[in-house]
Amino acid sequence: LRVPARPIIPFIEGDGIGADVTPVMREVVDAAVSKVYGDERRVVWMEVYAGEKATRVYGADVWLPDETLEALKEYPVSIKGPLTTPVGGGIRSLNVALRQQLDLYVCLRPVRYYDGTPSPLKQPEKTDMVIFRENSEDIYAGIEWAAGTPEAQAVITFLREQMGVSKIRFPETSGIGIKPVSREGTERLVRKAIQYAIDNERPSVTLVHKGNIMKFTEGAFKNWGYALAGREFGAEPFDGGPWMRMKNPRTGSDIVLKDVIADAFLQEILLKPEAYDVIATLNLNGDYISDALAAQVGGIGIAPGANMSDRVAIFEATHGTAPDIAGQDRANPGSLVLSAEMMLRHLGWTEAADAIVAGLSGAIRARRVTGDLARLMDGAQTVTSSEFGRCIVA
Ligand code: NAD
Repeated sequence: LRVPARPIIPFIEGDGIGADVTPVMREVVDAAVSKVYGDERRVVWMEVYAGEKATRVYGADVWLPDETLEALKEYPVSIKGPLTTPVGGGIRSLNVALRQQLDLYVCLRPVRYYDGTPSPLKQPEKTDMVIFRENSEDIYAGIEWAAGTPEAQAVITFLREQMGVSKIRFPETSGIGIKPVSREGTERLVRKAIQYAIDNERPSVTLVHKGNIMKFTEGAFKNWGYALAGREFGAEPFDGGPWMRMKNPRTGSDIVLKDVIADAFLQEILLKPEAYDVIATLNLNGDYISDALAAQVGGIGIAPGANMSDRVAIFEATHGTAPDIAGQDRANPGSLVLSAEMMLRHLGWTEAADAIVAGLSGAIRARRVTGDLARLMDGAQTVTSSEFGRCIVA
């Protein structure tokens, strides 16, 4: 990315706790950038609207205004708080709509342990992974029909009469969901994951799938992933395969490409997390794995994320709008702050990103944290969202 000294960065405040955590995130970013670069660099924030705030600004039914979409398409980097999923109406979920309209096919979730954070593991510091979740296909493509609808009935009739699927396996009362997984979709995701391992000098990339059962979707994901590693990155099978090995072109060190069945992986991340680095997986697996791993290192309150296409990256908190604590200045701003940290790194403003990590680690070590963490940490003091932000800055 070529980044000007004063990049314009669109932000969506977000609904619910968005109003609690987004101002904190901006303060922390401004403080880190100014501390490291003085007057030389500064983020120029540009508010754009989505979710409930958009309905207040643009009118009752406008959840995702065209102007917002245009800004997110135009600027290479943006950041957003959580958005309420509208009940009823034509939108299944604003986040899914954004992903589809901007073709944000990668959901990137780093999972790293910050010393002092509560964790159910004995050695949580061994968890250090980066998840590349495919974001556009799989069951999330939204191709489904409720049981009893003419559409579901038509599909059932077609499958029985044209494809020979038996009645026993397919009762009339079935709801139908279709799970598309394409070669293109798989390849662009796995390519990004391998490139990340190269750029960040990671020793392995693991394809997580359920290909033993879903052979032509998840099994194909695994096969296409390995094939791509061989064709584009020169990886070769070793010890009889299917695992592969390639050289990192930047450092000459080995990168291992491996795969594991999703259910076994959920055990492995608890039993030997140190065996895994970069993870490339399908949409639904990635959803489960991201939350499970987040819980190992302090919960969704401090788990950051980003959604990316080949052109743009939108950094976002991984949690929802937390209506139970919204507007009370109690929510943990850590998730959005660390998403902003990823954003600065993406811009190449590494020193400012490092300053944010140092600030957040310091606040956690000082045991001055929001309630979600404090209630799980011995001797911790509960502070407000804004106070937590000030601790990070200090
Ligand atoms: P949620 O993440 O909002 O809340 C789950 C639990 O975690 C709640 O008890 C909440 O208080 C707690 N929590 C979440 N974030 C926290 C934080 N930063 N600090 C402290 N505690 C926190 O999930 P939900 O209740 O299933 O969803 C609420 C709304 O958010 C729904 O409308 C849902 O569709 C939406 N949602 C949006 C996104 C997004 O915009 N990316 C993601 C998930 C859910």
